[in-house]
Amino acid sequence: MSLTQPIRTICLRCSRLSSPVSTTSPLSANTEGGEVVVQHMMIKSPDIQIERPYTPVNDCLDDGEIRLVVKRVRGGEVGRVVHNLKDGDKVGIRGPIPTFSIYPNQYDKIIMISTGTAISPFLQLLSKLPSPSSLSSSTSSSEVIPKLHLIHSNPLEGREDWSNTTIDKSFLPNLQDKFGNNLQITRIDPGLIPKQVIVNALQHESKSNRDQRVLVLICLPPMLMRPLCGSMTPNLSQGPITGILGELGLTNQEVWKLE
Ligand SMILES: Cc1cc2nc3c(=O)[nH]c(=O)nc-3n(C[C@H](O)[C@H](O)[C@H](O)COP(=O)(O)OP(=O)(O)OC[C@H]3O[C@@H](n4cnc5c(N)ncnc54)[C@H](O)[C@@H]3O)c2cc1C
Repeated sequence: MSLTQPIRTICLRCSRLSSPVSTTSPLSANTEGGEVVVQHMMIKSPDIQIERPYTPVNDCLDDGEIRLVVKRVRGGEVGRVVHNLKDGDKVGIRGPIPTFSIYPNQYDKIIMISTGTAISPFLQLLSKLPSPSSLSSSTSSSEVIPKLHLIHSNPLEGREDWSNTTIDKSFLPNLQDKFGNNLQITRIDPGLIPKQVIVNALQHESKSNRDQRVLVLICLPPMLMRPLCGSMTPNLSQGPITGILGELGLTNQEVWKLE
């Protein structure tokens, strides 16, 4: 595969998980109390001992396979190895490792903000949440799905809008079908996240912003994260909520920054 642009995406479909995965496996999506754990895997270059984290876009336990979207950056070692893989080639893989976990039923609304392949944890989260139609009318309150709002930037000109295709059931068109009106998807121009987009997303049909139980998940490169909500600290703890989300009064209880 020739590299015609600095970042490209491919899907790596691993062979089906051969041994049965028990529900107590760390790959398990839902544990007691409705917790949903989003996980990543480490991929290792076989030649040199370098590994990088990548996030499956799917519910691995449900599907029996791990599907990853791996970008290739100029000079990137693991991206190069993965993009050069041919059918039957082997690559080192380690994990799963928890990225973050949430209790969706604790929120009225979950807002997710991403660019590029940083959408992967949200595709996995949405794949792991049950569809509203699968929950019966007698469903207990611990199983109610919050309103979901994904804010994702359009690709730069000339780049593929891969997450907006139907080639994978974890991509946006299929997720929109799965969640119907429960999932709102807003596409924005590449660049800084506009304040008005956040203000609109925070609106609730019936509750005031103060009464609404909201969670904002952010997976952005540092230069976009900083003006939106403030940087993570050098040791990758959350740091204070500043920027647009700070101005709007959101706190560390309502915002989770992803590396
Ligand atoms: C928890 C977690 C989950 C992740 N999940 C995914 C995922 O699902 N898919 C995915 O593609 N990536 C994901 N990443 C990022 C991934 O781990 C790699 O860092 C990235 O793909 C580059 O790896 P590499 O070895 O190819 O390049 P490297 O050898 O690490 O980098 C080569 C050069 O490219 C630069 N570079 C690195 N990243 C970028 C970038 N985004 N844009 C421009 N230049 C860059 C570096 O500064 C360096 O100069 C995730 C990261 C984390 C922390």
